[in-house]
Amino acid sequence: MAKRKKGSDDGDPRNFDSICDFCGRSVTENGKGDNLLIPSPTGMLICSDCVKICKQIVDDIDRETAARNHRNFVEGAMEVPPPAAIREFLDQYIIGHSEIKKMLAVAVHNHYRRLAQEKSSQNKAFADVEIEKSNILLIGPTGCGKTLFAKTLAKLLNVPFAIADATTITEAGYVGEDVENILLYLLQAADMNVQKAQRGIVYIDEIDKIGRRTENVSITRDVSGEGVQQALLKILEGTIAHVPPQGGRKHPQQEMIAIDTRDILFICGGAFVGLEEMVNRRRGRSAIGYGGKTDEEQSAAIDPESGALKVAPEDLVKFGLIPEFIGRLPVIATMKDLSEEDLVRILTEPKNCLVRQYQKLLDMDKVKLVFTPDAVCEIARQAIKRKTGARGLRSVMESFMMGIMYDNGGNTTPKEVTITDELVRKCANEKLS
Ligand code: ADP
Repeated sequence: MAKRKKGSDDGDPRNFDSICDFCGRSVTENGKGDNLLIPSPTGMLICSDCVKICKQIVDDIDRETAARNHRNFVEGAMEVPPPAAIREFLDQYIIGHSEIKKMLAVAVHNHYRRLAQEKSSQNKAFADVEIEKSNILLIGPTGCGKTLFAKTLAKLLNVPFAIADATTITEAGYVGEDVENILLYLLQAADMNVQKAQRGIVYIDEIDKIGRRTENVSITRDVSGEGVQQALLKILEGTIAHVPPQGGRKHPQQEMIAIDTRDILFICGGAFVGLEEMVNRRRGRSAIGYGGKTDEEQSAAIDPESGALKVAPEDLVKFGLIPEFIGRLPVIATMKDLSEEDLVRILTEPKNCLVRQYQKLLDMDKVKLVFTPDAVCEIARQAIKRKTGARGLRSVMESFMMGIMYDNGGNTTPKEVTITDELVRKCANEKLS
């Protein structure tokens, strides 16, 4: 127990000139003058230097635990985050799409659960039950956040992530890339560590463009797109693929890296323009077929509650995807257009939202950039006109920010610039005309 040499008992730690029960030294021995003794309710004393050291120890332990958890996760032994935690994480980065978040949280949880389960001891009753992979198909208009979903999930799980464009892939014999190059991107994202890559996430964009019914027939790619789907379905399902480390077309003398794709999560995305019409046609038909009368609610292509398109595999077949390929994408999520309200939130809520990015840029030139609430709504409205989802926000912002940045670059005395809805409208319309 420390001795108290002096001081009143008014509770001020500075009134204790005594010895730390932790390091055994007096404050004056220890300190640079700002060291304090902090009393505990039981009369023990600890100096602030010891508190700092203890904090450092606790922080180091936390860091080690986090690193170990990550290692375990990569090796497949860790508890996978529960769907609610995945959803919460998605909420921090993605605005709207609440049903899709739930759906993806469950799909991704199950996917990594399946991987973890393979390694851990499991209930014998299910020993011979093999859980199938839950690759995901995201259907939604351009700029609604499909890529952002895939990217954010990879960030949460701390797994390698790669984006590929389905339109660049071609069947052997045509100009373009081999399907295995998709895996090369993933391998590169994993610093060429095969084991890590084998647990990564791949986002394949523009999957709707490899339908059989290709309108832009080109002599450089296979006419049907079916060959590409055939090649893709093997890696989606799980195969040992041989990847040329330098990319490009494979040739016989090349050294190859073998990658097992069984545990890779594939998320495919596409706009599927015209799909709604197909769903409508089918639902209209089936309603007549089953009930003899067309019930409006039964035949509506859009779910009134979630706003999602009620897609069935047969609609995708009509769109040109082969049934085997659709079969490898058991989770189908349809995303709707972002609303004006969603776009306003995208502009202002995420950590590095566009409004804050421009404010930061101008702050460096001593300019305080202020947006009126009406101006923010107008930016969202103008972006909707462009029909490119959240991507349109940037070009609307650029339309008026360019002049402001030109006039104020290098400004030296503090000033304030206010963006109004009239300014947004005027500049955006000028750019469009
Ligand atoms: P898609 O893949 O559907 O065409 P992206 O995911 O590439 O669209 O979106 C383009 C950009 O728009 C993203 O990088 C992001 O900044 C923004 N964005 C799109 N949708 C959202 C959203 N729902 N929430 C937040 N930002 C979004």
